[in-house]
Amino acid sequence: MDALRSAIRDIPDFPKPGIVFKDITPLLSDGALFRRTIDAFKERYASDSIDMVVGIEARGFIFASALAYALGAGTCLVRKPGKLPHAVHRLAYDLEYGTDTVEIHTDAFRPGQRIVLVDDVLATGGTVEAAARLIQDHFDVELVELAFLMELAFLGGRGRLRDLPVHALLTYP
Ligand code: AMP
Repeated sequence: MDALRSAIRDIPDFPKPGIVFKDITPLLSDGALFRRTIDAFKERYASDSIDMVVGIEARGFIFASALAYALGAGTCLVRKPGKLPHAVHRLAYDLEYGTDTVEIHTDAFRPGQRIVLVDDVLATGGTVEAAARLIQDHFDVELVELAFLMELAFLGGRGRLRDLPVHALLTYP
């Protein structure tokens, strides 16, 4: 895990002043480390009979698709508005300033499917909370866990997610 951590670089003041952006591109560009990341997720969920790995746009897709392949599961996309071509369910959620929206295809899951929701970073938790609510409001599925490469614990996202199970490979306290 130390090797993964050391391949994530801090970019101060990106995309706005005061934000320290966690850049995962050095990790992604190292084949051994990317494999280790996906293997770590795979080990956690290998015996959980996962049917679908859901990725949150956009960096979530990178991990969700690789993990789905590793588990022999399907993958599906939670996207920003206007990107999905078929009929969608959508949920608007509050940001610090303004709102944002997530969408998912209305036929994304079959009843009873067991799913893991994946993103790169758990920050305030607003995005993943919206994605999880979108899924729980419209589908009779089992949300096994919300999985992240890293959790920025100082932003308190886990508290906001309350009863949803959360797992992060790396934690920044
Ligand atoms: P959240 O505040 O948890 O809703 O974060 C929303 C999204 O922004 C997540 O999907 C992350 O990919 C991204 N994000 C938030 N904070 C950072 C950060 N410091 N570095 C990199 N990505 C971030």
